[in-house]
Amino acid sequence: MTQVAVNTDILAIAREQVLEQGIGLTQEQTLAVLRLGDDRLEELLALAHDVRMKWCGPEVEVEGIISLKTGGCPEDCHFCSQSGLFQSPVRAAWLDIPSLVEAAKQTAKTGATEFCIVAAVRGPDERLMAQVAAGVEAIRNEVDIQVACSLGMLSQEQVDQLAAMGVHRYNHNLETAKSHFPQVVTTHTWEERWDTLRMVREAGMEVCCGGILGMGESLEQRAEFAAQLAELEPDEVPLNFLNPRPGTPFGDLEVLPAADALRAVAAFRLALPRTILRFAGGREITLGDLGAKQGILGGINAVIVGNYLTTLGRPAEADLDLLGELKMPIKALNETL
Ligand code: SF4
Repeated sequence: MTQVAVNTDILAIAREQVLEQGIGLTQEQTLAVLRLGDDRLEELLALAHDVRMKWCGPEVEVEGIISLKTGGCPEDCHFCSQSGLFQSPVRAAWLDIPSLVEAAKQTAKTGATEFCIVAAVRGPDERLMAQVAAGVEAIRNEVDIQVACSLGMLSQEQVDQLAAMGVHRYNHNLETAKSHFPQVVTTHTWEERWDTLRMVREAGMEVCCGGILGMGESLEQRAEFAAQLAELEPDEVPLNFLNPRPGTPFGDLEVLPAADALRAVAAFRLALPRTILRFAGGREITLGDLGAKQGILGGINAVIVGNYLTTLGRPAEADLDLLGELKMPIKALNETL
């Protein structure tokens, strides 16, 4: 009797399924990848890189973010120093329109194609919507860059208004697996976030949705989160690693070990072969200087330049130099139109 060898090695399966056919890993398969030992990490990162090169190409999308309204948020996301409910050092502040336009200009100079306007709110009120409308118009008149927004949960009317302003992409993170969300946020639900994302997609804006790893979730929940993102099919997934902020309920959590962070990046790439996978906040503290390189060679194809919202990132030049060194071109604006 001839025996047909059935391959049970998850990386061999991923090579055939994801790399060759472009079909993302299932939740169980993603979990198997997350459970791989450190001895397979290099092989995993190389496969994630091959998948990214085959299904996304070598271009790296560069984005800048700016905080239009900082701090004083009424929600209680346990990782967030902008919540007004915790004793964290971020105080409420607003940015004016000329400063917003100047930040967009500086961002465009780095070669970035996306400029994301962020506000620390549950959802926008009329004042914020008016500020955003004025800001988006001023930027579109003066700067050659796509405008994205991240303003919390939206009503259908607000979704339609943002689409009419020409907002190209909307960011709203699910943050973590549905089963872990109640441990992270109690003032609103995962489903409310999902509803906003659905309306954004239906209005024709690109969907940007990611989360934060290292918030006490299990490996099973990390795999669950990847599967839930795959179901959403976002255009972009920003991956953050928890940077425990003093005064927040997660201020005492341990920083995710570098190997776990890299394994997760690669696993998310294998679950989401075609999405823009962006390194967002927290990578400096988790991965250190070397991390950028390993991530960009392990599935990442987009970066945020400069500072994050409440913590300092690496200077823009360091990332852009690295992309040059790795011979990875920055995605040009005309490719995103
Ligand atoms: S809604 Fe946004 S700004 Fe407000 S606490 Fe949560 S993460 Fe922070």
